[in-house]
Amino acid sequence: MTWSGGSFGSRAVCVLADNASPMTLDGTNTWVLREPGGSRSVVVDPGPSSPAHLDAVRAAAEDVAVVLLTHHHLDHSAAAREFAESVGCGVRALDPAYRLGSEGLGAGDVVAVDGLEVHVVATPGHTADSLSFVLPAERAVLTGDTVLGRGTTVVAHPDGSLGAYLESLDRLHALAAAHEIETIWPGHGPVIADALPALDQYLAHRQQRLEQVRDALRSLHAAARDGVPLDHDQLPRRIVEIVYADVDEVLWPAAELSVRAQLAYLSGGGRNL
Ligand SMILES: [Zn+2]
Repeated sequence: MTWSGGSFGSRAVCVLADNASPMTLDGTNTWVLREPGGSRSVVVDPGPSSPAHLDAVRAAAEDVAVVLLTHHHLDHSAAAREFAESVGCGVRALDPAYRLGSEGLGAGDVVAVDGLEVHVVATPGHTADSLSFVLPAERAVLTGDTVLGRGTTVVAHPDGSLGAYLESLDRLHALAAAHEIETIWPGHGPVIADALPALDQYLAHRQQRLEQVRDALRSLHAAARDGVPLDHDQLPRRIVEIVYADVDEVLWPAAELSVRAQLAYLSGGGRNL
């Protein structure tokens, strides 16, 4: 399945950045949003500092009212300040360190530009500062790295947290169940036409991984009782080798962050952290 961005609904254009990698899939999706007939646009996640990409975003966006960030990771935020300065607007983000100008961004905020409405939903978990942006007029949600167009995301322990992540998936699931969102416009990979089954799958995948981590922990502890030494510093890596055996080894360092998040979650008593 190739993905190269394009136009979606009547309010969105996705400009794909040229930073493809195992972690960023096809590259970062920079979203340009504008109300039909509106003169100014909103740019979500300008992405990496690539002149060709930023030129393409400027061409798609023309007059930009504001830049929004889904979260602080550099593949989304690196060019935010440079891009915003070049078009003369501010950057709004949850984390003050990534803002340009005085305006913040947080749960419940509504960003309104020439009739376009973007509703901000807190979706921490991938990172503590992860936000999603709902476009009610499109029944669409921009999820950044909270939900990807392909595969699953990393819970980037210790900034990210599995308990928060599961609650965020529940929050998005409730919006989908209420038909407030039907389609997912992710930070990487293709758009997801049908939000509800995708969110079901994400929640099921997390539960399955948790079961696998629990099982791996049990077998490592059993082996330790039988005399195979268990070095606690090596525990997350040992679990990755068991649970993520089916995953490309270049992703194991990222998987280790997710395992650390899962171990923290399990030691905290599970879902009711
Ligand atoms: Zn990303």
